[in-house]
Amino acid sequence: MELKLSGVSSQKESQEKIENVIVIGAGPAGLSAALYAARAELEPLVLTGTELGGQASLTNIIENYPGFPDGVGGNELSDLLQKHAEKFGARFEYDAVERVDLSHRPFTVKTYSKEYQTRVLIVTSGASPNHLDVPGEKEFTGKGVSYCATCDGWFFKDKKVVVVGGGDSAIEEGLFLTRFASSVTIVHRRHELRAGVILQNRVKSNSKVNFIWDSVITEILGDKHVEAVSLRNVKSGEESTFQTDGVFIFIGHKPNTAIFKGQLNLDQNGYVITDMSMRTNVPGVYVAGEVADPTFRQVVTSAGMGAAAAIQATRFLESEESPEIPEEKEKQRI
Ligand code: NAP
Repeated sequence: MELKLSGVSSQKESQEKIENVIVIGAGPAGLSAALYAARAELEPLVLTGTELGGQASLTNIIENYPGFPDGVGGNELSDLLQKHAEKFGARFEYDAVERVDLSHRPFTVKTYSKEYQTRVLIVTSGASPNHLDVPGEKEFTGKGVSYCATCDGWFFKDKKVVVVGGGDSAIEEGLFLTRFASSVTIVHRRHELRAGVILQNRVKSNSKVNFIWDSVITEILGDKHVEAVSLRNVKSGEESTFQTDGVFIFIGHKPNTAIFKGQLNLDQNGYVITDMSMRTNVPGVYVAGEVADPTFRQVVTSAGMGAAAAIQATRFLESEESPEIPEEKEKQRI
């Protein structure tokens, strides 16, 4: 279904221009939202932030995005999604948002260089995996260092990998990696896993998995690809080197919601609280992708949420434009 909005003026030349839709973020959720809003002739403005393409663009090749049986590069998919949205009129500003005012409409969105007003806001600012912040981590990202087993596990067929972390993510992803890797070594900074007991039992009984307890990685080593990690035992202080082909880091994610605190309802981990229609507690503000999704974190689910957010945002604007369309009862939920 294609939704078109006829009566919305773009007010292009006006100094006091009010955008119809601003999308914050340009990962799969933001780019899909932009495409759907553009096809509804809303001329959305995408404020990309600093990570065009989001986390997906960090992935060498995405093999589980439907429609690409041979896989698609993370950057390539991001380029395609952007071109697709631009083809229908989406505009992009390579600027990062530093502040929003959602207390009244039009909403105010302040970037480092400019201030915008918008009738509707779609938040797709994503989540960022926590980093170890050790030497070699940045340098070898995509060359053996990964934050996504689903995306990159296959590349470690019959290879040795290290998984960092002791939470549910590390254990779940570590177990997933046993499908491919010859061995999975979990490096955890304590002697006790944080993960739930069922996962603990599964991982401890898996013959491919072994543990290095009470230890942290101090450096990731290699030439063109990861070859080893330097370890330090936090109890004894002993230093050692461990040979590995890959390092998967799962030490938590941070949703990028700092600028929305006190304005959008967030859960205890900082994720934006939403419903199936991607609405938030503020009428006219929608959300999509990993900023509101601690569970699935897939390119395809984020893209789907982005489309849903834009469809709902379009309906919201339509109901304001056309009295015959029943107004969305925006305040009745969340
Ligand atoms: P998490 O529960 O916060 O666990 C992070 C792990 O990383 C912890 O073991 C922590 O060690 C370790 N860690 C943190 N910073 C570190 C550092 N700088 N160096 C080394 N290790 C570090 O994160 P998560 O596993 O991503 O889970 C996030 C939430 O999602 C949790 O509520 C979890 O239950 C949920 N989740 C659920 C499932 C599921 O139910 N199947 C799957 C995934 C996630 P310490 O233990 O010492 O703090």
